[in-house]
Amino acid sequence: MNKDVIIIGAGVAGLYMLHTLRKQGLDVHIVDRAAGVGGTWYWNRYPGCRCDIESLDYSYSFDEALQQEWKWTEKYASQPEILAYLEHVAERFDLHRDISLNTSIDSAEFVEDTQRWRLTTSDERILEAKYVVMATGVLSAPKDPRIEGLEDFEGHVLKSASWPQGGVDFTGRRVALIGTGSTGIQMVPKIAEQAERLYVLQRTPSFSIPAHNRPLSDAEQSEVKSSYADFRRRARSSPLGVDTKSDPRSAVEVDAHTRESVFRANYDYGSPMRFANSFNDIVVSEEANAHAVDFVAERIRERVTDQATAEKLIPRSYFLATRRMCIDTDYYETFNQPNVELVDLLENPLERVDATGFVVDGEHIEVDDIVLATGFDAITGALSRIDIRGRDGRVLNERWADYPASFMGVMVHGFPNMFTITGPLSPSVNSNMFVTIEQHVEFIAGLIAASEGQGTSTVEVSAQAETDWCTHAEEVSHQTLFPRTESWYTGANIEGKPRVVLPYLGGVGAFDKLLDEQAENHYPAFEFA
Ligand code: NAP
Repeated sequence: MNKDVIIIGAGVAGLYMLHTLRKQGLDVHIVDRAAGVGGTWYWNRYPGCRCDIESLDYSYSFDEALQQEWKWTEKYASQPEILAYLEHVAERFDLHRDISLNTSIDSAEFVEDTQRWRLTTSDERILEAKYVVMATGVLSAPKDPRIEGLEDFEGHVLKSASWPQGGVDFTGRRVALIGTGSTGIQMVPKIAEQAERLYVLQRTPSFSIPAHNRPLSDAEQSEVKSSYADFRRRARSSPLGVDTKSDPRSAVEVDAHTRESVFRANYDYGSPMRFANSFNDIVVSEEANAHAVDFVAERIRERVTDQATAEKLIPRSYFLATRRMCIDTDYYETFNQPNVELVDLLENPLERVDATGFVVDGEHIEVDDIVLATGFDAITGALSRIDIRGRDGRVLNERWADYPASFMGVMVHGFPNMFTITGPLSPSVNSNMFVTIEQHVEFIAGLIAASEGQGTSTVEVSAQAETDWCTHAEEVSHQTLFPRTESWYTGANIEGKPRVVLPYLGGVGAFDKLLDEQAENHYPAFEFA
């Protein structure tokens, strides 16, 4: 195969990239290791899986007819509904004819002689293209949790990010669930509905607030759709890529009554982004953050009957919203059920798994199934699983061994004609991903058009522009509490990964302006050769 552009990944990013570049007259092809389109939403089909960004926000804005015609059924869409939406987009824009599924890329090499990329699939086929776009996803490389004895377990080991297609029936079964991030929190109530016994093995608890998910009325949808373009514009110029206003006041400066009522209103609305933006200093001031922590801790105590369990469910080792805040439907209340038990691994670490169960504090507990919701090697993980070699044999994994350098998450110096969608140091996971994916896709399409327009062989970000961006992203992150938290945002969940705040924290709106400035000024950060 020899193409103008090969895109790796048929998720939200890859599908829009294909559609956009095809309109520019380029010969484009997507490869994806999955058997269907949808990326993250293809793989993550575990019970309770749904989005934590509201449906009317979490969707493409690029096509007016699409956004008018698609009807969401709930405030927060479930995984099957989002997957159906992405499948609809692939059909509607006739994308399938340029997508090869069940195709996994092992390596990508920039060949100096031809100035083209040469990709090798896992079944040793060679694909070539002038440009390669990594639409490989930010939460698509599951973490290996390294649990002693797991390979000896004779029951089922189920992984949230590769859940069986037909679902799993836990009726009458004893289940251990490991991991209490967004994924575990969504699964716990669903598994507890069926399981005879559910052990929730928690190392670090999460902050979660009720989602208050509900059906979306026609009237609500019509209101947004009556001026959808304005709604999208506001989202794109907002800090997090959603059309919500943050309170301009400090949580420390307002009186206690005001503070409580602002927190209460955002908590009752049921949106982690709104809650984390209750005041302008929740993620920059320890004192402001402590007020938010106190408010949520009190709600956890109200929701859980057994107060010893409630105390274990309250996070104490990090600042609220510096790890992804969760939303839930009845998560804490599930611990009031007689068939559910919290196992606090901070108090008593998981000693090992064996053929029939797990051991904690010297006690062996028998289970039939082990469910892993242990997270991802985020943002850089999917790229590091491909052997990527750029100019002069530079290896991306070596380049990123100490620091994941990138210009605005879109390109790495030394890797000409290779683009990353929502790569490191772009807003990515700290935003509404649909918005930041659209930003990047449109920017990359513009850059490729500029390169083609000049008849150049390669486009590459300059070393200086990359260094300047990394410095800026670091400076911004150090104005916040994020670098002080151990999380997947900072690479701390993966052994040996450099500790860097991976998402850019300067805001989606500010980021959009900077991308526009690049385009308006003929891409000063890039060298065309
Ligand atoms: P995560 O937030 O990284 O949570 C992983 C959990 O597994 C943590 O509680 C972690 O504990 C635990 N863990 C990892 N290794 C372990 C081990 N060896 N032993 C015991 N516990 C272990 O991963 P996630 O829940 O999959 O969520 C990742 C991100 O995906 C979210 O933050 C969110 O951005 C996205 N997501 C979103 C939604 C949604 O939209 N509602 C749903 C799911 C996921 P430690 O922290 O102690 O390591």
